[in-house]
Order: sequence, then C-alpha cells, then structure tokens
Amino acid sequence: MTITQTARPFVLCEAEVVLAQRLSPSFVRVHLAAPELAEFGTVGPSYDQRIKLVFPHEGGPLPVLGEGQDWYAEWLALPEAERGHMRTYTVRDVLGSGPDTRVVVDLVTHGTDGHGEAGPGSRWAASATVGSRVLLLGPRKGVVYGGIEFAAPEDSELLLVGDETAVPAIAAVLAQLPVDAAGAAFLEVPLGMDVQSLVHPPRVEVTWLPREGRPVGSLLHEAVLGHLGAGAAPVEVPEAEVEVGLWETPTYSSSGDSLDEHTTSVGHDLADLYAWIAGESRVVTGLRRALVRDLGLDRRQVAFMGYWREGVSMGA
Ligand SMILES: Cc1cc2nc3c(=O)[nH]c(=O)nc-3n(C[C@H](O)[C@H](O)[C@H](O)COP(=O)(O)OP(=O)(O)OC[C@H]3O[C@@H](n4cnc5c(N)ncnc54)[C@H](O)[C@@H]3O)c2cc1C
Repeated sequence: MTITQTARPFVLCEAEVVLAQRLSPSFVRVHLAAPELAEFGTVGPSYDQRIKLVFPHEGGPLPVLGEGQDWYAEWLALPEAERGHMRTYTVRDVLGSGPDTRVVVDLVTHGTDGHGEAGPGSRWAASATVGSRVLLLGPRKGVVYGGIEFAAPEDSELLLVGDETAVPAIAAVLAQLPVDAAGAAFLEVPLGMDVQSLVHPPRVEVTWLPREGRPVGSLLHEAVLGHLGAGAAPVEVPEAEVEVGLWETPTYSSSGDSLDEHTTSVGHDLADLYAWIAGESRVVTGLRRALVRDLGLDRRQVAFMGYWREGVSMGA
C-alpha cells in the first residue's frame, strides 16, 4: 500500500523492517524504513516522542487506509478482522536522512517466553524479521504534532523513572539532554541481562533495577523515595483506584485534577525537581501519590504517565 502524504500534517505510512535485533531477553529493536519517512521529524528535540504502530492480525495483511485527514475514523470503521492492532511506542532514534531515514523502535517482548501475557505488539516484535511490515503514524517535519511530554525547565534537577516500556523514552531523553544536565534516572527491567549501555550526561546518575522475578514496580518506589531522602513503604493503590490511561502532566490531567493544584513541600527540598515517570499504571499511581500527595511536589513539576496496565490490553 502506498499512501500519498501531500495533505496530511503527519506521516502515516506502511513501513518495513530493514533490521531486527534481539537486544536482550525482553527487548527487540527494529529499524523501520519507508519512502514517506523522508518527511518524518519533530520540531525541536524529539525526547519521548510517541508514535502509533498498527500491527496486522496474525498472518493477515495490514489495514488499507485512504488519504483523508481523519485516518482514525476511517481506521475504526474497518471491520475488526481488517483493522489490525494499534499500540503506542516511542521513537528510540532516527537514523539516516531522506529516503534512507530509519525510525528505530525498541519493543518489549512481554509474555512471549511463556511467562506473563503477550499481546499483538509483543508477538509481532518477537517474530519481526527483515521484511515484516507495520503502519506507522508519527510527526511530520516542520509541523507541530504533539506527543512529547518531557518538558524540564532549564537548570532543573531531573528525576527520570520508568519500567521497561519507558526505557526507550528515558534513553532517548538522556541522549538529547545538554551535557551539563543533572539528576538521576531509575530504570526497572525484568532481568539483569536487559541492562543497556546508555549515552547520558555525566551528572545524571543512571541506576538499573533488574526485578529478576519480583512484581513489576516493586524496586522503583524504594529507589525513588530513597533518592529523595524520604524512605517510605510503597503506597498501596486499590484496584478500583487505578486509572488505566493515567496521564498527569503540567498541561493535562486525565483525572481532572486542577492544573493549578499546588501543595507545599513537607521537609524535602524539591523546589528544583522535575520528575518524568512512566510505566505500569498502578505503579505510576503509587509514585504519584508518594511524590505529589505525601511529599508535596508541585504537580506542575511532574509528568506521570501510565504506559500500560497489568491485565488490560491497550487496544484502541
Ligand atoms: C506514550 C507511550 C510510549 C510507549 N513506548 C513504548 C516503547 O517504546 N516500547 C514498548 O515496548 N512499549 C511502549 N509502550 C507500552 C506499550 O504501548 C504497551 O506495553 C502495550 O500494552 C503493548 O501492546 P501489546 O499488544 O504488546 O499488549 P496488549 O494487547 O496491550 O496487552 C496484552 C497483555 O499484555 C500485558 N502487557 C502489556 N505490556 C506489558 C509489559 N510491558 N509487560 C508485561 N505485560 C504487559 C497487558 O497487561 C495485557 O494483559 C508505550 C506506551 C505509551 C502510552
């Protein structure tokens, strides 16, 4: 399928895997190529730029979309068997230029080793080879597209926190920070073998937390609270209070919290802190409560994002 890009303020195209690498037991990296990706790009740094990938139903073709602006309505109107599965991923890197542009995406292969649940995204990743195809929706050069949440004020003390799904975003942010940036990053991954070598400014300390079979998020809370000098037991979040699509940033609140909500810090000097936290929704909710409710971090200094939810498929 070829999609003409002329009218659209974004890039939507069928992309082909030109390189598939098993990085470690939990990660596969794909390099995606398509002539239309010559127009792929952000206005300014891409940081945690998100994109949509549509995977085909197992063994089936990719959905065929027209050239209109309202691709989403068109996609939703397709019969379920032809629609495929849309999921959100992060631009880990962009290589090359022009028709040789490659969009690099790191996908977690959860549930494909017999442990936990798999999904269309993780299954596609685990079996991706040169020639595998997906639909890719992302930013077009020179057009403001959105989908970048990292927005640290200059000179802030950074706190980047995530599980494996946020490793690509944190890695991309770290690689694009100014050399004098300072702070800490905590990355929880399933296994010690999933630890990667990352490019980062020397004053940002990177700590990997391999779970090795422990529940997701179980190492993050202690590590983050310890870093802030506020040792505390994990905040238990009842199932009914977990918001699947938790999204709390300085400009948007999925829970409807007032964006002007401001509490006073209780005994911890958090005035210069900027926190970017993403991962499993219950884990991120617990961290949000600890940082905003208990420690009084100003919610204008945080981005808390539920990237996935245990037991829930993120199908659109
Ligand atoms: C802004 C944003 C950026 C993201 N960037 C990336 C990225 O770069 N790389 C990446 O791999 N993911 C990323 N994610 C997360 C990814 O979209 C979800 O993990 C998604 O659920 C994967 O789809 P799936 O088809 O594999 O599983 P789904 O069909 O959504 O879910 C099927 C089952 O798998 C479980 N599941 C989903 N994800 C995981 C997981 N990581 N570990 C264990 N179980 C899981 C679900 O709980 C469910 O039970 C991002 C999400 C967002 C919102």
